[in-house]
Amino acid sequence: MHRLQLVCVKKVKSNHFRTVKRQTHVCLFAYKTVEYPRLMWYDIFIGIKENGAKRMNKFPYTSDNKRYHTWNYHLREKFGCKVFKIALNAGFTCPNIDGTRGFGGCTYCLDGSGDFAGNPADSLLKQFDEIKTRMHKKWPEAKYIPYFQAHTNTYAPASVLRERFEPVLAQDGVVGLSIATRADCLADDVLEYLSELNNRTYLIAELGLQTIFDETGERINRCHTYAEFLEGFEKLKERGINVCVHLIDGLPGETKEMMLESAAAVARLKPHCVKLHLLHVLRGTKIAEQYLNGEFELLSLDEYADIIVSQLELFPSETIIQRVTGDGGWNALIGPLWSLKKFVVMNEIDKLMVRRDTYQGAKKEML
Ligand code: SF4
Repeated sequence: MHRLQLVCVKKVKSNHFRTVKRQTHVCLFAYKTVEYPRLMWYDIFIGIKENGAKRMNKFPYTSDNKRYHTWNYHLREKFGCKVFKIALNAGFTCPNIDGTRGFGGCTYCLDGSGDFAGNPADSLLKQFDEIKTRMHKKWPEAKYIPYFQAHTNTYAPASVLRERFEPVLAQDGVVGLSIATRADCLADDVLEYLSELNNRTYLIAELGLQTIFDETGERINRCHTYAEFLEGFEKLKERGINVCVHLIDGLPGETKEMMLESAAAVARLKPHCVKLHLLHVLRGTKIAEQYLNGEFELLSLDEYADIIVSQLELFPSETIIQRVTGDGGWNALIGPLWSLKKFVVMNEIDKLMVRRDTYQGAKKEML
């Protein structure tokens, strides 16, 4: 016998309630965020309670009935506690900004894509402490993974990287290190240092690929090729270093088929993690000018959910999905504005997976 479990129905509209009754497995809750301060009510799929026990879907890597292998699930399994990434800005630049490979950076990039990284004018330890103190109030037992996020964090000799990474790595509660970079910025001394780090901590190198299509790469001024990405990926993999590959859906000129092709190509590489981002058009970027000139259109929420679910079906169930959407700053975001309601986006993805009765890896045999 299925039991309807409602946590709160105070503000539920009748159409909302009909959804609840039909699904009989929905819990309602409210939230507000800094980016979206209005109180919002959403339904979240949490599974059917049957004779008091939660009936889980058949996806193996979940404890909350998600149909994909979430980063939170992975961290809980690996460390047995809440773990946060702390985004930092170590003051690097990029080869497609400083003229080595190009100028201006990627067309969508604002300030090195370090949306939530600290202020580079502050020391790294100050940036780290500020966020840690905030998190610690709510989760005193939490552990931390410093995330060198802004710009290209291996674009310097190993001696410089060592100076910036080591003091943060030595802080109490740090259990790993995440380093965002480009596949064309992995010099031999850097690879040697990363191997050394990999032997003493949980290291993840995050590679911004965005798309496997070089024509799109040129259009967004990525200034490195897919072949160079593969070369960099292999160098990390042969040293046993975990790689997280970033893809962006909704880039100018890309069709759904192209986005699925990019996901399929990355899935075949069996990376440790992936981040699936939505293209955010931010004020002050080159891509904002192109968008406002009508040169391309943005994805709708329905299109995005459909693409993400279809991409998730391609990834092996072991691949950790660090993100299924991104965070575009409220102040700078031109579009898509629906992306500000991040919980809604994630909820739509979950609901679509339930409706299709699918899960991560369901179509991996098609690769
Ligand atoms: S490589 Fe990353 S940080 Fe550098 S310009 Fe491109 S998106 Fe920005």
